[in-house]
Amino acid sequence: MSEFPQRLIEGYGAFLSERLPHEQSRYRALAEHGQRPEVMVIGCCDSRCSPELIFDAGPGEVFVSRNIANLVPPYTPDSAQRSMSAALEFAVQALKVKHIVVLAHAQCGGIRAYAEEAEPLSPGDFIGNWMSIIEPAAKAVGPRGERSFQEYVTALEQTSAVKTLDNLMTFPYVRSRVAAGKLELHAAYFGVATGDLSIYDPAQKKFIRVAAEAHAKAFAEPRF
Ligand SMILES: [Zn+2]
Repeated sequence: MSEFPQRLIEGYGAFLSERLPHEQSRYRALAEHGQRPEVMVIGCCDSRCSPELIFDAGPGEVFVSRNIANLVPPYTPDSAQRSMSAALEFAVQALKVKHIVVLAHAQCGGIRAYAEEAEPLSPGDFIGNWMSIIEPAAKAVGPRGERSFQEYVTALEQTSAVKTLDNLMTFPYVRSRVAAGKLELHAAYFGVATGDLSIYDPAQKKFIRVAAEAHAKAFAEPRF
């Protein structure tokens, strides 16, 4: 018989004793009236980058779709089974979210694999095929040149997030809601080791740190 991970049983126990008592009425209301999140987050599968944890979101607050390297393929109405496009369609058409946040992050394994031209993990090379979505971003970043590998990968991670906003705009219903002022698109970048968060500013064409003061305070205070 297979064994369900003990860590998850323990985690569920903590959820029952700590979180659920505080949020029981919220869960009931959400079950009764349905979810109405105003924000969709498109994040990476990376286990260190849970959007609900980073943004301290409660149940019903963010609609999350995660994939390798937080990418969105351009709008392609064909018969392929497209998980990302289905999630996007539901978020925009049914939930009518007001914001879509593409949450990129440092040390992204998918981006690194692309930058290192890593060997496929399987004959089908699902990752390689998926990561080819970032080719326009890689073109925009240009060759590595004098940059360190780390600088190059960071540029790729950030540029890819911005290009993903362009890909989102290839979906007709995204484009029309953005044009009508009913939907805003954002790119953000989470530094895993540092815990800092930057938001892309289209006017300056760069990522700007947010809550830097609160971040410095949180890191300055002794924890133990
Ligand atoms: Zn990643």
